[in-house]
Amino acid sequence: MRTFSSAIRLDSDEKKVEINITDQVEAVIKESSIHEGTALVFTGHTTASIHLNNADKDLERDFHDFLDNLVPNKDSYRHNKGDYGMNADAHFKSLLIGNSVTVPVTKGRLALGQWQAVYFSEFDGPRSRLISVKVTGKK
Ligand code: ZN
Repeated sequence: MRTFSSAIRLDSDEKKVEINITDQVEAVIKESSIHEGTALVFTGHTTASIHLNNADKDLERDFHDFLDNLVPNKDSYRHNKGDYGMNADAHFKSLLIGNSVTVPVTKGRLALGQWQAVYFSEFDGPRSRLISVKVTGKK
């Protein structure tokens, strides 16, 4: 059993945006030389998320519209009255969607469903972001 860790750095260039990071995660798996195991994809940010979704440009924008309807930002949030910026909604979206996914690795590739992709969600950009990838398994 071996473990390989790496990081993906990216700059989100919009306030709210979906970034398909599947290729970057697969590059880390290739670099790890692990063929059977799991890949943990994690982000340590509290106004961003990691999740799986259908790789579709329209759905990427619909996803943010859906979350905006579900979690409208409000002046009345205590967090929005402090020196943190008006980003309470971004924190709530992050905790609803989550900060990591674990995906099986088979034959050196992510064993995703036919339509699945690994996404980084930006809820309070533009910012410089860091994503950790830890691959565990055997050659
Ligand atoms: Zn904040």
